[in-house]
Amino acid sequence: TWKPVFPNAADSDYADPVQRDKAFQALETVRQQLGQTYLPLINGKREQTETIVDSVNPSNPSEIVGKIGLISIDQAEQALEAAKAAFPAWKRTPVRQRAGVLRKAADLMEQRRYELCAWIVYETGKALHQCDAEVSEAIDFCRYYASEMERLDQGYNYDTAGETDRYHYQPRGISVVISPWNFPIAIPTGMTVASLVTGNCTLLKPAEVSSVIAAKIAEILVDAGVPEGVFQYIPCKGSTVGSHLVKHPDVHMITFTGSQEVGSRIYAEAAVLQPGQKHLKRVIAEMGGKNAIIVDESADLDQAVAGVVYSAFGYSGQKCSACSRVIVLEPVYEAFVSRLTEAVRSLNVGDAAHPSTFVGPVIDANAQKRILEYIEIGKQEADLAIQVPAPETGYFVPPTVFVNVSPTGKIAQEEIFGPVLAVIKAPNFEEAIHIANGTNFALTGGLYSRTPSHIATAKADFEVGNLYINRSITGAIVSRQPFGGFKLSGVGSKAGGPDYLLQFLEPRTITENI
Ligand code: NAD
Repeated sequence: TWKPVFPNAADSDYADPVQRDKAFQALETVRQQLGQTYLPLINGKREQTETIVDSVNPSNPSEIVGKIGLISIDQAEQALEAAKAAFPAWKRTPVRQRAGVLRKAADLMEQRRYELCAWIVYETGKALHQCDAEVSEAIDFCRYYASEMERLDQGYNYDTAGETDRYHYQPRGISVVISPWNFPIAIPTGMTVASLVTGNCTLLKPAEVSSVIAAKIAEILVDAGVPEGVFQYIPCKGSTVGSHLVKHPDVHMITFTGSQEVGSRIYAEAAVLQPGQKHLKRVIAEMGGKNAIIVDESADLDQAVAGVVYSAFGYSGQKCSACSRVIVLEPVYEAFVSRLTEAVRSLNVGDAAHPSTFVGPVIDANAQKRILEYIEIGKQEADLAIQVPAPETGYFVPPTVFVNVSPTGKIAQEEIFGPVLAVIKAPNFEEAIHIANGTNFALTGGLYSRTPSHIATAKADFEVGNLYINRSITGAIVSRQPFGGFKLSGVGSKAGGPDYLLQFLEPRTITENI
């Protein structure tokens, strides 16, 4: 098989005192900049807004990270007009030049790496070391999609005698990107630059709670040379102005990452043909997961415990790829549960800016309330194995493990999106696979095993978009592990993979008799 070579950006090495000092210094410098106001960017200009909301630090909600101007429906209309006006020239802009903008953006992100990490720590409560990998991912998306578009731009030549048959791609038009808060730089950057490099005029609507980081992405794209109207940063409320854009007849495509409820709604709303609309919209919707790791009787339990803890509690379980179910075969169940409990007991929970923190807060008060409600349901449905104390101030939820969970229980079926892990016992491997596949989702999954026949069965029958064997199940790397799921985990081909950009393009065939 063809093996591409893509040089991924290197993460920082915090064992190196120079790099570590730079990271700490950036936390201080950025702290001095908290509380500023960020206005939307419409047609190259910063526009005043009627509504301004606070984005706060989840580790310490009295700290305002930034004030965000939210656009109105009228301003959304202005942004669409600007995008339409900018489209003909952007469509004609040579791919080499569009790719150049992405590569410049990647270089700027590399230069601002420590500062960007600090903004992620403060605005979304992600522990520092996890922010660094995310900045690397954003950089990789820029460079990878730049090269991918150059590859696709070559088109195909199917000429025969007396006739040229040429196949090439053109952009779709006006593109709306709607992003979640949990990978506040990697996901909006990836979706936005894919849309831009393919020649679409792109409006970025970030999640309200991570709009300061999105404003930094906007700054970087402007500095990298994206023309006015081609890229616009339009923070707004999803359920009103976001929904208006989804239904708008002038929009050609919507690229969404977020919850299954919102994604399904967008998919339905975008499908309705509006008066005056002359096309059907393309929707990419990457949604939630209820990801499982299977641990069989041949697994290296030390490795399995470490991998499960990292996958379940990294970023407080708020990754779409996070492990929220672990399915353990009966012969090793007791041993695994006791080792898992001890490992969870030693987790450091606290302020995301503190270097020793592994589990930070959750994103906001709503999330905190929802997750605590699930923990109460868990207490009814299953046995509590451990709950690690968490700070009182801030949106913290105690890391929690339930054992003897029924595979059909609520905490084994619904995406909780927090630091809550359900341990399920399986009588044999076949049943373990059956339980793993028994949810509405198919995003990530994992297996710890040294039995070749189990590994082969998992490769064939474990229904997930990204399967990881004998390692943790989060942290997909651009181009090496293209990422995305199916079933109710989403529609669309994998981010950071060879088919991703095709979704932003219309293929055309031109035949000429010569
Ligand atoms: P969310 O669905 O609440 O919000 C996502 C975005 O949609 C936000 O920008 C929000 O403002 C906007 N929105 C809300 N209602 C809207 C509407 N009616 N019309 C248009 N836009 C609307 O999700 P979230 O809480 O930001 O993110 C967490 C979810 O994202 C989890 O379910 C997680 O699994 C999922 N996720 C999936 C992936 C993946 O690649 N599959 C990656 C990251 C996160």
